[in-house]
Amino acid sequence: MAENHVLEIRHLSKSFGKHVVLRDIDFTVDTGDVTCIIGASGSGKSTLLRCINMLETPTTGEILYHEKDITDKGVNVPAYRSKVGMVFQSFNLFNNLTVLENCMIGQTKVLKRSKEEAKKNAMKYLEKVGMSPYINAKPKQISGGQKQRVAIARALAMEPEVLLFDEPTSALDPQMVGEVLAVMRTLAKEGITMIIVTHEMAFARDVSNHVVFMADGVIEEEGKPADIFGNPQKAKTQEFLSRFI
Ligand code: ADP
Ligand code: MG
Repeated sequence: MAENHVLEIRHLSKSFGKHVVLRDIDFTVDTGDVTCIIGASGSGKSTLLRCINMLETPTTGEILYHEKDITDKGVNVPAYRSKVGMVFQSFNLFNNLTVLENCMIGQTKVLKRSKEEAKKNAMKYLEKVGMSPYINAKPKQISGGQKQRVAIARALAMEPEVLLFDEPTSALDPQMVGEVLAVMRTLAKEGITMIIVTHEMAFARDVSNHVVFMADGVIEEEGKPADIFGNPQKAKTQEFLSRFI
């Protein structure tokens, strides 16, 4: 097994009652990979990311993080989530906390960093996403694009090894999509390992090195962006992509 496998998803299936939502999902993420997961609504993309972040428990299969199965009993889930962080479509900021406090709380509670250290680190990442002028604002005082940039800074402040994004721009007004994608492009260029569920096909094509196309709970096709977007092999992939032309 190569040493640079960060995550290996093996034979992962997930059912809700009798409803099979994910079926025998297999894929591998290496250090520095930017994997984009595309597919129609209801194909299981969010459930897959939620399994990888341990917000859902797989029905069967394994999720290996550096060869250790994180679905095993006794795994410290908050510690794992500090390594494999998640950015949500709906931001999930704490509305009663300021921008700065949102970016500190995980560091102090989970990583047991001192307030000074957490603040210094939060400021570093808020600056990186262009949100340092807003540290004392509450989430309701800033725009959706700004909220998402704060959510990205919050995730980065934990210094994760992998960042998961579930349709990070889908809840945004069109004029705010660009500012969030620009931040994500910067992270990709810096070599941060990311798994991104997105409907932004131009972005996926540009930024990823691996594209996973899901349909009805299975990986229908996967490969390099130039192949998936330029020369899709499966009828379902062709049909899905034709909607974006
Ligand atoms: P996507 O993100 O690709 O739109 P989802 O992973 O959200 O797809 O959903 C895949 C399927 O799983 C859908 O049919 C959805 O209704 C179902 N599903 C997701 N979460 C739950 C849940 N907690 N309970 C029951 N069904 C669910
Ligand atoms: Mg979804």
